[in-house]
Order: sequence, then structure tokens, then C-alpha cells
Amino acid sequence: MPARSDSTPPAHVETRPPGRTLGVSLAVALIGATLMPTSAMGQDFDSVQIAVVPVTGSIYMLQGSGGNIGVIVGADGTFIVDDQYAPLTDKIADAIEGITDDPVDFVINTHWHFDHTGGNENFGGMGAVIVSHENSRRRMTTDQLVELFDTEQSAYSPEGLPKITFDESVRFHLNGETIDVFYVGPAHTDGDAVVYFRESNVMHTGDVFVRYGLPFIDQPNGGDVDGIVEAVAEIARRTDAETVFIPGHGPLSSREDLLAFGDMVATIRDRVREGIAAGRSFDEIVASNPTRGYPEEGIETRAFVRLVYDSLVEGR
Ligand SMILES: [Zn+2]
Repeated sequence: MPARSDSTPPAHVETRPPGRTLGVSLAVALIGATLMPTSAMGQDFDSVQIAVVPVTGSIYMLQGSGGNIGVIVGADGTFIVDDQYAPLTDKIADAIEGITDDPVDFVINTHWHFDHTGGNENFGGMGAVIVSHENSRRRMTTDQLVELFDTEQSAYSPEGLPKITFDESVRFHLNGETIDVFYVGPAHTDGDAVVYFRESNVMHTGDVFVRYGLPFIDQPNGGDVDGIVEAVAEIARRTDAETVFIPGHGPLSSREDLLAFGDMVATIRDRVREGIAAGRSFDEIVASNPTRGYPEEGIETRAFVRLVYDSLVEGR
């Protein structure tokens, strides 16, 4: 394997001039460093520590900044799910070295957002094979705008792009584990995949399931609220009460947590849908407080309702 490359600055993330998008500042304040790029948050990656959380057997969760990383190690090589931000690559690789001598062979991208794929060029440059849904690769080949955060994500160079893509699913047979990677989109984006380690009964959901509160649905880039609800149902159908969940963001979770999340999204969606059916305007729907009963956490309420509303009005 080639030597580890130096981490590069997060050149792929640029913040647009402020003030263009409704609710951005509040959304930013609430989500904070969880989702935002360093240029917008002044995030100091030097201070980020990578926590290694054992999940079960040879599976681990790494937490630093950005999406949770899943890792499985063993005789057949090292397989990771998502790779956070480019400036964290050396720290992530160091954390993995604490688990195994083998460098990273495969990187699965659950979707294309920068807080899950920022390390792609570094890991790809070190020889890892990147795998994603076809739609996610397509997004990574061109510049993208993540409107809610007024953030541009530049196209990746060839070494940061997936070398293998799939439309429906792909199965890995590694380290005694059957690993199913399957498409559940459009949901959080139009290229969402989840990763199920069958024998260990561990599911990495990407951002189809998160624990920070009202979830970000990237509706302008193909995300869809009905798709989130359906994806959660599909994931629930394929798992059981014993399954350990690695959410896109937040702590290790249970199937109960997943179902509670799905119920929250479905309940709010139904309230917004009823408002639309009753002929109410967007402002009237917001005023009806469709998120009542749920904590004001995560995406700012008005911005979240906007994403749900646009999903329902524009459809898939
Ligand atoms: Zn995301």
C-alpha cells in the first residue's frame, strides 16, 4: 500500500455569501459542528479527537467530526463506512492503526455529503477502493450546492471518486461477515445506501437515521420525506430488536430508537400534508406548529418544515 498522504485542507467545501437561504443561521447554530464545514463554523480540526467505540466483535464506530464511521477489520482486510473530513484523515487512519495493522481496503460512502466523504481523496490516494450508489458518485463528479447550509461542495478528483457503484445493492464477503449494502433512496439524498453486517447484526444507516433531532432532508438535491419514512420501514423490516445501529450522527442506537425517529418524521409529515390538503399556506402550516411534541433540536423548525413541505408539494 502507498504511504499515507498528508491531510489536505478542506478545499472542497466553500461557504457562499450568507443570508440567501431561509433559516440558515439558526440551522447552523443548532447543528453546529455536527454538519457544518470548517469554513463556515471556524471549526478547529486540530482539536478533534477520534473516539473508537467498540460495537461488537471486529466492528467499531469512530466518532470525530462529521458522520459516524463504521469499521470492520480482519484477515480479509479493513472496510470502513464513510470517512468524515479531509483534515481528519491522518487521525482516522491512526485510530484504525490502533485496531489493525492493515490499511483501509474499502470505503463505502453512505451518500455524497462532504461530512461523510471528505476523506475520499486521501483514502483513495492511499489505495482504498471507494464504493457508493451510482447517484452519489454522479453527484461527486460535479460541483454541488447544499442549499440549507449555503455550502458548495466541489467535484472530487478521480482518486476521490467511487471505483465501484451499484443501483440496488452489493454484497461483500469479508472477515467472516456477509455485508449487504443496499439503496434506500431517495430519502436523505437521492443516493442513500445503508450497510448491514448480517452475522454481527449491526446496521450503519448513514443519514437516513440520525440522533440530533429534526433531520436534514436534502430535498433540493433529491431527498424526500416520504422516502425517509419508507427507508426507515425498510431498515426496520430487515433488522430485529437485537440489532445495533450506527446512525449517521449520534450514539449507538437500538431499533426502538430507529422506529421512534421514523414515527417523528411521519407524524410531522402527516401534519404538514393535512395542512396542504386543507389549502393552508406555508406560513399558516408553520404557525400550526407541526413539530409540536418534539424537542426543538437539529434542523431549525421552520427550515425543516420547509423541506417537508417542498417534498410533499414537489413530489419525487
Ligand atoms: Zn448527509
